[in-house]
Order: sequence, then C-alpha cells, then structure tokens
Amino acid sequence: MNKDIATPTRTKQILEKYGFSFKKSLGQNFLIDTNILQNIVDYAELTEESCVIEIGPGIGALTEQLAKRAKKVVAFEIDQRLLPILNDTLAPYDNVQIIHQDVLEADVNKVIGEQFGDTKDIMVVANLPYYVTTPILMKLLEDHIPLRGIVVMLQKEVAERMAASPSTKDYGSLSIAVQYYTEAKTVMIVPKTVFVPQPNVDSAVIRLIRRKNPPVSLLDESFFFKVVRASFAQRRKTILNNLSHNLNMFDKETILSVLQEVEILPERRGESLSIEDFAKLSNALYSSISSNNPSKKI
Ligand code: SAM
Repeated sequence: MNKDIATPTRTKQILEKYGFSFKKSLGQNFLIDTNILQNIVDYAELTEESCVIEIGPGIGALTEQLAKRAKKVVAFEIDQRLLPILNDTLAPYDNVQIIHQDVLEADVNKVIGEQFGDTKDIMVVANLPYYVTTPILMKLLEDHIPLRGIVVMLQKEVAERMAASPSTKDYGSLSIAVQYYTEAKTVMIVPKTVFVPQPNVDSAVIRLIRRKNPPVSLLDESFFFKVVRASFAQRRKTILNNLSHNLNMFDKETILSVLQEVEILPERRGESLSIEDFAKLSNALYSSISSNNPSKKI
C-alpha cells in the first residue's frame, strides 16, 4: 500500500520520478502535510453523496483525500505536464475525473450537468493557484453555480479581505461581493512550511457557505455592484466624490439628493457602509434613473 501522496517523502519521489519542475507562474505550491489536507476536507463536511470540484490538483495530494470521502471528484488542471503524473498517482481511485483546462475558461455549469447528474450536494474544495484566487472565486459566485459552498486555501491577506466587516482596513468591494453570495469565515491560518516550494505569503483556509437567499433585496444586482465598486474607487475619498466621479450617468446634485433621501451622510467613506446601506443606496439611485428617464441605459 502506497503512503499518502502528501507526505514529504512520497511527494519527493513522485517529483523525481517525473523530473517535474515547478512553474511559479502557475502558482504551483504543493501541500505536503496530510493533517492540513484532512482538516480542509473536514471543513467541507462531505458525505458519501457529495460531489466535489477541485481546481488545480497538482500531483493529486488533496484530490486523493477528497476521493476517499466524496462520491465523485472532478478536478480542473491547466498544466499538461501533470496529467501523466495524476494518471499514475490517482490510479487507485475510480471516482476521480481530471479535466485539462483553465478553470477560468471552463463552462462549470455544463461540467456539473455532465459529471454529477442530479446530485444536490456540490462543493468546491481546492488549494488555489494564488495568482488567480479572486477571479476564480468571483467566477464561481457570479456564474450562479449551484454549490453548497467553497472551502479553499488562499493568501491570508485575501481571506481577510473576503471576511472583513465594515470600517476595517480590509473591507472593500471583494468583502461585499463574497458576503452578498455567501457566509464567509476564515477557518485556518496555515504556515508556509507545509508547502513545496514555500510561498512568499502566509496562507489561510476560508469557508464560504452559499446563502439560500441574498441578505438584501436589490432592484438590480449588477447595478448594485457598480455602485459598490464606484464607492471604493479611491478609498480616501468621500462617498459623494467617489460616486460623482465614477458613476457618469448621475450629476452631483442627484447623488447628493439620493444620499439625503436614504440618510447617508455625503462625507462618509465607502468603507463605513454596510451591505444594507449599499442596497438602500443603489436601489434609490436605480429608481431615480428609471423615474427621471425611463429609456436611459444604465
Ligand atoms: N492541489 C495541489 C496541492 O494542494 O498540492 C496543488 C495546488 S497548487 C497551489 C495550484 C494548482 O493549480 C497547480 O497544479 C497549477 O498547475 C494549477 N493551476 C494554475 N492555474 C490554473 C487554472 N487557471 N486552471 C486550473 N488549474 C490551474
């Protein structure tokens, strides 16, 4: 019986056998600690009915632990050199499917339909490539992929931004986007020593559980995110200045009167507004456009 892939000796053997060299540009930092991997899998609360999407299986360290606990694992890997390795290391597991594709270009909804049938319980579990953490997570959330949740390793600093509360330095449009779609919690801080090669930044594991219903009701979701992004365009500017510089469809007077209507002081900064404040504000701005000029495009 082979040892787990994630042990330092087995990982070294595999890398030597295939003469594998890490590509920094693909965020290749492999996990070599079985305990950490098991903790990640525990946080995903998998059952025998669970189906899992993994992003970036590497040499299969996390994939193996997932395959032991889930019904099926589908893993997207961009690096062709890893395919023969995965074919070898994951040979004992017949519930794993590797897809050679950049996950950012994948039609994940289609893959779910093809691979998971009518499974209700789908989780994303991954040790993400850090150079694309935010685009990957935003794609999974914005594409309305039917997930129960996401448990991923990422840069500690990004995890902190995702789970941040208003009026903290980490709070911004990423916090609002993630918290609009999910309940977010940083569940583990992970030392650099559990990776080969060691990354330059500290890592954390974040758990995002998809909300059944959004926390606020919006007249238009994409307009809400436009207002949020505009409000944080320059963190030191007031909400009035940020909105009037970055939402071209409004003049300053309209923005001022809408801020008064929703009782948000114009000199406040975006970082002090909760999701509820942004919902009130974006709904009122949206209504002011449709009532003043029903044909105007947003
Ligand atoms: N899961 C393995 C582990 O924990 O040891 C490897 C994790 S490593 C941090 C990230 C993996 O993502 C690498 O295998 C890398 O080749 C792959 N990757 C990078 N960019 C990707 C992308 N856009 N789509 C799919 N996989 C990607």
